[in-house]
Order: sequence, then C-alpha cells, then structure tokens
Amino acid sequence: REVVLSLRDASQSYKVRKKTGFGGVNLVRAVRNVAFDIRRGDSFAIVGESGCGKSTLMRLLCRLELPSSGQILCAGRDIATLKGRSLLEFRGKLQMVLQDPFGSLPPRTAVGKMLEGPLRTHGWRVEARIRERVLKVMGEVGLPTELYEQLPLGLSAGQRQRINVARALVLEPEILIMDETLSALDQAEQFKLLDLFEKLQKEYDLTYIFISHDLAMVRKACNRVAVMYLGEVFELADNERLFFDPGHPYTKALLSAMPTLEPRRYRPEECLLEGEPPSPLDIPAGCSFRSRCPQAVDKCSRLQPSLTVRERQDFAACHLVLPPTASGGIGGVGTT
Ligand code: SF4
Ligand code: MG
Repeated sequence: REVVLSLRDASQSYKVRKKTGFGGVNLVRAVRNVAFDIRRGDSFAIVGESGCGKSTLMRLLCRLELPSSGQILCAGRDIATLKGRSLLEFRGKLQMVLQDPFGSLPPRTAVGKMLEGPLRTHGWRVEARIRERVLKVMGEVGLPTELYEQLPLGLSAGQRQRINVARALVLEPEILIMDETLSALDQAEQFKLLDLFEKLQKEYDLTYIFISHDLAMVRKACNRVAVMYLGEVFELADNERLFFDPGHPYTKALLSAMPTLEPRRYRPEECLLEGEPPSPLDIPAGCSFRSRCPQAVDKCSRLQPSLTVRERQDFAACHLVLPPTASGGIGGVGTT
C-alpha cells in the first residue's frame, strides 16, 4: 500500500521562560526524532500517557505547527513547503475530529450550516449542491435530516461527535485524525462509532490516525500502533504483535495496566509502572525510560537506544531488543 504520510526525524521544541532565577529560557523537547510511515487504509494509533508528545505530534501532522527539525511528507511533498492552493488542498485532504463533543460545536449555529462551512471555505458556491452534499454526509454518519435546521442544543455526546465526524468528512478527505475522539463517550456509543468508522473507511477509502491513551479502543480499531514516551517513539508495531508480544518494557507496563477480557493477551509478571515520567525540560541521558524501567541495565544510563527492527514491520527502542539474525534481518532504523 502507498505511503500517505511520512515522518522523517520530525522534532518539535518550544522555548519556555524559566520560572525562577534571573530569566533565561528552557527548551522543552516535545517531539524527538519521530520517524514512521502511514499507509493508505491504515488505522494508525499514536498512544502514550498525557505529556508524551502525542498532541504536539498531531499539530505537526495537521500542519498547525511546523517541526523545529525534520520533515513530514504527504504524497512525497514536504508539507512545510505548501502554500496557497496546495495548502488548501492539503487541508481538505487531511481533517481532524477533536475530543470535546460539547465545546467544539457553536451553540447558535444550525447543524446544516455548520456542515456547509468547510464546503464554502473550499469554494463551493451552488446552494443546491452544497445542501445535497451535506444531506448525504448526514445520512452516512447516521444523523437524521431534521437536524439540518436545528441547533445542536440538547443533543447527546454521541450525536455531537457524529456532527464533528460529518464536518470532517464533508470535503471527502483522505486522512482523518481522531484526537481522543471517543474518550468522552460511554462504551456503547464508542462501539457504535467504531462500527461507523469501519463502514466509512471502506466507503471513503480513508486512512485514520487515532491519538489515544485508550489501549482497549486501539486493540479493537487499529492495525498499527506507535507507542510514545517523552516525545519519542518507543515501539512501532502491528496490532497483534504489539498486544501479544510487545518488545519494549514501557509497552509491557502499559499493557499490564490495561483491563482485558482477552486471555491470550500478554500478561507480564512484574511490569507495573511506578512514578512519573521525568520532565520534558530535563530528559535524562541514555534511555529516557531508565528511571522507571524494571529491566534497566548499566548501559541504559549511557547510551540512547534507537528504534531497532525486531521483525519485518516491528520496531522497538530498547537495548534488550535484539535485531533478527543477519540472515533474516533488514537492518535497524536509526533515530538519533
Ligand atoms: Fe529499560 Fe534499558 Fe530498555 Fe530503556 S534501554 S527500556 S532502560 S532496558
Ligand atoms: Mg494531550
């Protein structure tokens, strides 16, 4: 399958004013040398605890921010170089659905009007065609047509998220980014929306990127997963591999904290995660997971592990992960 988005050592740092002393600035390294490809038809998950850099990464992918170094390629073009018409096209191609179903809808705008907005921005002028397109999308996401003229007042969180999904879909994008889109919904609603996403994926030939901390949702909905910690990708693997044979101690710890009904899933013995991640202002040398890692060895404090191939498609950044033997290996992917 074709690569639709490609991150090439993308990093993002912010300068923040020091709180104490006589001024000066600190550098927050929110995203560090992230490299992976997203292919057409993927449901790609970016997971990690809060503060791991996944929201920053989302802003980079949407080109709401430009990376401080590295590149993000869409269909082979560096998105930082897009301007004017090509930037508008990119925005139409890649849409996002945010987390908050309540704050994200203007309360005094009728649902139909809201959905017309992106079409008008993108140059649609013929009223009948605009209306037809909006009604079609409403039908596809399961919104009753009466809502066209109504305000979003009193709608459930699930209905509101459907409106957000419709608003993202109305321009027929190729890529949808879901930032914690389901986390405000109860489980029954989540399942309904996941079914809807599956159906829409086929109809629109969509690629999804789910930004999430909910591993159960990721297990159910995603084929590929990137696990982030302190701005770095620690593990990158297909769903089955990640959930049944994780390579990184951090992934193992996350999985051990995940409630599950699946007996086959990886069951670590002692991999409980203790303590907090270090501050992104002060990332330790060597492996940044070292302060919480139950398996840390001497060299972890000196050498930063790079993402190493475990099997064809699966990578982990840990000194304990061994690449496949020379005969079957295809080499590692450096991240320093
Ligand atoms: Fe733990 Fe060392 Fe692996 Fe880092 S490199 S995850 S500290 S064993
Ligand atoms: Mg966040």
